[in-house]
Amino acid sequence: MSYTKNLIQEIIAKTPGESEFHQAMAEVYGALAPVVDDNPRYQEAAILQRMAIPERAIVFRVPWLDDKNHVQVNTAYRVQFNSAIGPYKGGIRFHPSVNLSILKFLGFEQTFKNALTGLPIGGGKGGADFDPKGKSDGEVMRFCQSLMTELYKYLGPDEDIPAGDIGVGAREVGYMYGQYKRIVGRYEGVFTGKGITYGGSLGRTEATGHGLLYLMDNILKGKNDGFDGKKVSISGSGNVAFYAAKKTVELGGRPIAMSDSGGFIHDPDGIDLSAINEIKFVQRARISEYIKYRPNAKYTVGTGMWNIPCDIALPCATQNELHEADAKALVANGCKAVGEGANMPCTAAAVDVFHENGVIFAPGKAANAGGVAVSCLEMSQNSMRLHWTFEEVDQKLKGIMGGIYEKMNTAATEYKMDGNFVAGANIAGFKKVAEAMLAQGVV
Ligand code: NDP
Repeated sequence: MSYTKNLIQEIIAKTPGESEFHQAMAEVYGALAPVVDDNPRYQEAAILQRMAIPERAIVFRVPWLDDKNHVQVNTAYRVQFNSAIGPYKGGIRFHPSVNLSILKFLGFEQTFKNALTGLPIGGGKGGADFDPKGKSDGEVMRFCQSLMTELYKYLGPDEDIPAGDIGVGAREVGYMYGQYKRIVGRYEGVFTGKGITYGGSLGRTEATGHGLLYLMDNILKGKNDGFDGKKVSISGSGNVAFYAAKKTVELGGRPIAMSDSGGFIHDPDGIDLSAINEIKFVQRARISEYIKYRPNAKYTVGTGMWNIPCDIALPCATQNELHEADAKALVANGCKAVGEGANMPCTAAAVDVFHENGVIFAPGKAANAGGVAVSCLEMSQNSMRLHWTFEEVDQKLKGIMGGIYEKMNTAATEYKMDGNFVAGANIAGFKKVAEAMLAQGVV
């Protein structure tokens, strides 16, 4: 068995029950065989073994009082995965499914994603099994304050800088940042995704969705194509999905399907994004409400949105939401390109189907890196005490996404896997982190 295959088996055996982490690790390490063969130093310095273990993982309880004065308790985590190229950077997720395996997969992915941006940030991720849905503002605030009362010890502007993720938007970031500042007594850029009035960057809210479209546009232009006139299916209706849909329209495409965890809508004439904004961000309601705004649209309970014929699919909800059968349905209906707005939304078998059928496939660690890239720009502005315009930030984001495309394309070509952006992104991200680890000795 080859060195990387053997190692993947060893790591799986040593981390039982961590299926999401195994999936992410096997995807990255599975692409590295030719790189490791070319560079015996990586084996000698046990770089892959060291990279697979977080530098530190903190698990702690978060007790809080609900509106009825009942005591509630949740489990929270911060996985500080790799600081070889910069301080730990990665979001915080609030969702009932959160566990150590999911956060290890996200922190591991984040390390390579951050490396791909070309910016000096390491990888980390955090979260809690807390569900903000149905909670009052007061309950969300008390939960965030209790969480930060423990987490602040491990954070710092040059140490670990969290951001939002699923279930953590501007409201939650504000509450967590407020508590951090109150405890440490310093006004410092320890969180990104902050509100514009207290150190946030213009363009951060839009960055992941816009970045996804910039990357896909770069890929399509490389094939003399573009978004103009394309039918686009976008799963989710949160931060990433919404701004991906907006930029799709700006680039001439037509979003025709969106979803939430309850079901999906199909509006062949093009989704009315002002209605989505009202339902999801103002009312915090379910996407099923959409048919009240557009009676010709159809709402379906549950899964199945990938059966709708489209030209481009952008899964932007959560991990493992697009399975092999969905991939086959997309291929059969003529889908030409898939870009992962979410982290690992496509199963490994689904990705194989895309590759086998010549569908362009952009993996999340490249395609959704726009969010963390603009987070890093927010950190720069905080350090410099500056506030850039939306246009300045957007220009930089475009440049960074163009750079990511070049890096993954070049790495894929160098290792004779032309057009395989999974391999290209994994190799380019890995090499940057590996070289930094080698230079820093056995630490
Ligand atoms: P949000 O919480 O804003 O939105 C998540 C969306 O996905 C909601 O519409 C939610 O529906 C839906 N969803 C969640 N779980 C499921 C599920 N099991 N099945 C179907 N739909 C589901 O999160 P974001 O938009 O911020 O994040 C989405 C993805 O993008 C995540 O994978 C995240 O890690 C990734 N990402 C986010 C970045 C960012 O800047 N925000 C940066 C890079 C990656 P419902 O409301 O019903 O729960």
